[in-house]
Amino acid sequence: NRKKEELVIVGSGMAGYTLIRELRKRDSKRPITLISADDGAMYSKPMLSNAFAQGKVPAQLVQKASIDAAQDLNVTIKAETRVEAIDRRAKTITLNRGNGRRERLSYATLVLAMGADPRTYRVEGDDAVPVMMVNDLGDYRRWRERIGKNSRILLIGAGLIGCEFANDLALGGHEITVLDPASWPLSRLVPQEMGALLGEALTEAGVNLHMENSAIRMEKGTGGNIAHLQDGRKVVFDHALSAIGLLPRTQLARDAGLDVATGISVDENLRTSDPHIYALGDCCETEAGVQPFVLPLMAQARALAKVLSGDDARLEMAAMPVTVKTPCLALVVCPPQPGAQGKWVLTERSGRDCAALFEGGGGVPLGFALSGSQTARRQALAKTMPALLG
Ligand code: FAD
Repeated sequence: NRKKEELVIVGSGMAGYTLIRELRKRDSKRPITLISADDGAMYSKPMLSNAFAQGKVPAQLVQKASIDAAQDLNVTIKAETRVEAIDRRAKTITLNRGNGRRERLSYATLVLAMGADPRTYRVEGDDAVPVMMVNDLGDYRRWRERIGKNSRILLIGAGLIGCEFANDLALGGHEITVLDPASWPLSRLVPQEMGALLGEALTEAGVNLHMENSAIRMEKGTGGNIAHLQDGRKVVFDHALSAIGLLPRTQLARDAGLDVATGISVDENLRTSDPHIYALGDCCETEAGVQPFVLPLMAQARALAKVLSGDDARLEMAAMPVTVKTPCLALVVCPPQPGAQGKWVLTERSGRDCAALFEGGGGVPLGFALSGSQTARRQALAKTMPALLG
């Protein structure tokens, strides 16, 4: 039964598409079905937070419409189709194709590449003042339409994505106010000195930063929406965007009885607790934890393509630095593993050109952060860091 041999991948993000490209390098004919809750377009998600800097409108971020991707990669794509349930005994999934239409699809091997959901921001008054989240191209299209030109934007969160959006929206001509209870931007990724430098650079770029502060209430006013801050100040704004982190999408796996920690638990072969089901990308958790970035998902896709082709392969991940896309100050971070014990030590500082090491017990380097011209050292320093896995 040919259908039984089918490989079914859930999710058309970078993880799903990178896996298909890797599989096609090995076998151009193997039947593959890709299911996606969105329109299945191929795009680079990191560009959502630097589209203004690149002078791009949302339509220009599409690399390939799903119909072209299906043809080029020789896959069947079912777009706008949500997987609602996995029946592991029958090896079928239930698809919801909209308008109440449901159907079942058999799989021999199932791959979950379902990404992550943004954490929901709640504050008193948010029923009257909507707070948007941008986590995919559809969200981004709606957001850009909504904000129009020269808007006053309240951005919740000064982490990696919040800082990138702040810089980019300011470059797009909007007036930005950022709120974060932490003491400095990127507080979980860089030491205070470097976060302060980024804060200065963002301020020069026109961003109003309110650190150690948050909104306690929002309301609609006559001249715009109003956020009442913890320190008693008020911010008047037109639109609000939340960027307070992501949580792996695990509900489908959990409901199917798969092992789930923060993400869907996978072993060194990207296999879940069911030998016929695999996971990769933002939804999965390897022994190195959840690694919601592009380089890890690429390493995972390469390893998984080998495994699914019957080759002996194990996921290995070297230290993987991440470029922070803030044109006001070049930054590269290579954070230590979550929960690592140690402290930041500033090793170089000349103006905004800085290097810092995160040192564990005995001075062992476990992570680094670089700014300005020091970012040129990213490759050399990455080689001195412990591998994420393997
Ligand atoms: P996603 O792209 O989220 O794809 C998930 C897919 O699963 C989607 O197609 C979705 O429709 C589908 N899906 C989910 N549930 C179902 C279901 N039940 N049924 C069917 N389909 C379903 N990383 C970097 O390394 N560098 C950067 O500069 C960088 N910048 C970023 C900027 C922004 C604004 C954001 C949000 C992230 C950024 N990242 C960056 C992170 C990086 O983009 C992600 O790690 C990566 O795109 C995740 O890909 P994914 O395929 O795992 O998930």
